[in-house]
Amino acid sequence: MFMLFVIIIAIIFFFFKLDFSKIKGSFGEIKVHTQLNFLGSDFISLNDILIKNPNGTTTQIDHVVLSEYGIFVIETKNYKGWIFGNEKAENWKQIIFNERYSFRNPVKQNWGHVYSLKAALSDFPSAKYYPIVVFAGSATLKDINSTVPVIYESYLNSTIRNYCTEKCLSKSEVLLIKQRLESIELTERSAKNEHIYNTRTIVKERQMKMANLICPRCNAQLKLRNGRNGKFYGCSNYPRCRFTMPY
Ligand SMILES: [Zn+2]
Repeated sequence: MFMLFVIIIAIIFFFFKLDFSKIKGSFGEIKVHTQLNFLGSDFISLNDILIKNPNGTTTQIDHVVLSEYGIFVIETKNYKGWIFGNEKAENWKQIIFNERYSFRNPVKQNWGHVYSLKAALSDFPSAKYYPIVVFAGSATLKDINSTVPVIYESYLNSTIRNYCTEKCLSKSEVLLIKQRLESIELTERSAKNEHIYNTRTIVKERQMKMANLICPRCNAQLKLRNGRNGKFYGCSNYPRCRFTMPY
């Protein structure tokens, strides 16, 4: 009995932790988003951008900042502990107390995002791209070897401003890029939404049938029956169809 209790608590904890990490991930992104809003009107920040790649896959980018000085591509990591990494390595290391974890090199990951963005914006050849990796959690950057900036979230805006010395795009080009990214985003999202819509229609249809006492599995009539545990609805096609629903 006690063991069962422990197992249930462990399961609850496991799911709670999973959910909690999800919330934390987006919390880091919200923090970065809020900070980017302080950059001023010369900068346009787009969040959670979807890009369609030439091979049909999609790439998701945390933050893209557009300006006449170029395009800043920002990857956010909401981590804690000590972080060690080299831009050439496949994986980076995170140490929390005495536990070691490894995660995908975020600099390489972000180069992939820059590559996708360049392909989507190939008709703006003068655009310069600046990848930046931001740690928005409580992590300490212990030993980072990278030519791409890997910084704390509080240095983000000053890092962006430091790159703003030479213009490479006109104001109208910046607006065109914004429109382009938003329209790619829209088509990709609507493709996703259509999928969600279809699933919802199926669920609704099923509920409608059940409300009208029609079996959602075989479309036969549902009949009220008496069982060991009281009344219930069962399919009139029983035993070929074993669908039941509560009375
Ligand atoms: Zn049935």
